[in-house]
Amino acid sequence: MADGWPLVDDRPHAVVIGSGFGGLAAAVRLGARGWRVTVLERLDQPGGRARVHRQDGFTFDAGPTIVTAPHLFEELWTLAGRRMADDVTLVPVDPFYRIRFHDGSTFDCSTDAEAMRAQVRRLSPSDLDGYERFLAFSKELCRVGFEELGAKPFSRVSDMARIAPELVRLKAYRSVHALVAGFVKDERLRQALSFHPLFVGGNPFRASSLYALIAWLERRWGVHYVMGGIGRLVEGLAGLVRGLGGAVRLNAEVERILVENGRATGVKLASGEMIRADVVVSNADSGFTYSRLLAGETRRRWNDQKLNKSSYSMSLFVWRFGTRKHFAELPHHLILMGPRYRGLLDDIFPGSASPRTFRSICTGRQRPTRRSRRKAATGSMCSRRSRTCSAAPTGRRRPSPIAKGSRGSSTRPSCGASSARSSLQRSRRR
Ligand SMILES: Cc1cc2nc3c(=O)[nH]c(=O)nc-3n(C[C@H](O)[C@H](O)[C@H](O)COP(=O)(O)OP(=O)(O)OC[C@H]3O[C@@H](n4cnc5c(N)ncnc54)[C@H](O)[C@@H]3O)c2cc1C
Repeated sequence: MADGWPLVDDRPHAVVIGSGFGGLAAAVRLGARGWRVTVLERLDQPGGRARVHRQDGFTFDAGPTIVTAPHLFEELWTLAGRRMADDVTLVPVDPFYRIRFHDGSTFDCSTDAEAMRAQVRRLSPSDLDGYERFLAFSKELCRVGFEELGAKPFSRVSDMARIAPELVRLKAYRSVHALVAGFVKDERLRQALSFHPLFVGGNPFRASSLYALIAWLERRWGVHYVMGGIGRLVEGLAGLVRGLGGAVRLNAEVERILVENGRATGVKLASGEMIRADVVVSNADSGFTYSRLLAGETRRRWNDQKLNKSSYSMSLFVWRFGTRKHFAELPHHLILMGPRYRGLLDDIFPGSASPRTFRSICTGRQRPTRRSRRKAATGSMCSRRSRTCSAAPTGRRRPSPIAKGSRGSSTRPSCGASSARSSLQRSRRR
């Protein structure tokens, strides 16, 4: 129990499994609504995929490094009656990232509309008009797909049926690459405007064109680093949970969810401890939740048969390097496109042959520190200490649903912050 809260707490009790962004966000929302919340995390630190590794004086973000929709986090601080700026400093990064194509040409993405037009003009002047039309389309996708539908649950077929006409109007049945190809002709531009599903382990040639909303999302809210690393955001959220009288318990692995008469009534930890709860929220991966934490329970929808038929988003392999050298020529976020874009993706994604090369797509990221803040804002290199560089080749075809380090398929924009629904999306068939 946090300081300032009574010893006898008669609020209804909610248990949240997992302290990733989704779990912490759910815990803040429940706490703000008057629940006594206990977050149970099996690891020795909070954050899940957003946890932090420390070595030789360097701090490495294990997973996410950039925040694309900061207002979703702001909302959590507001619900808790606090100001995000008091706990976390966000720094806009401009350009967000540089894409370098195999022919040596580059494309810098930023919030600056004129700079973006200049980039398009440089690569393919005849595509400028198509680019403008694509951006207008992306804006509309963002309005509908992110602002309107982003917070709505789609747990019933009727929910999907209701929005089907809108999805058809927005051509959601097409792939992102096919949609973009309808607007611009230059293959490099097509890649630059359509690669975003890769952020969440999706194939641009198969993922719904709804992902094209990211182009506008980034333009609208920008891309941000968290000063001190993403761990600061995790610490801030855990602080909100505690401030609302909740607890975040580490090294507390949930073995199973207790169910009575079809209702979750608590959890049993691996240590044998039982914790009763009025509501249980699982933000562990959904496949794991249904197959392990609810093993043996009658599950009408996500039964074993359906789970076995589901495919999961891919895992990735991350290399982290620490260096004290200053690489002035490197932008904060560099994406290298190899000569075999489509071929590589065909190799990697399910239904294709084994991957032949892992080298074509990788990212290099540097995180700003306090000293490098001004440089971060202008997109140049970060300072000497505490830098993160990660290369992220992708390539497992059918990963285990519980593989850590898999990107998960919660939309990158929400970063799992708006609710705990992301884990459900993760098990959807691609
Ligand atoms: C390399 C990489 C880079 C990424 N980059 C970005 C980025 O730049 N921007 C961005 O927005 N997103 C990024 N993402 C995606 C983002 O990290 C995830 O969408 C988000 O962190 C997922 O949060 P989550 O809460 O849904 O799940 P998780 O973070 O996976 O949280 C689940 C938690 O549940 C815990 N748990 C599981 N089982 C149990 C159990 N039985 N008992 C107790 N606890 C349990 C786990 O230990 C974990 O802490 C990236 C992901 C990766 C891997």
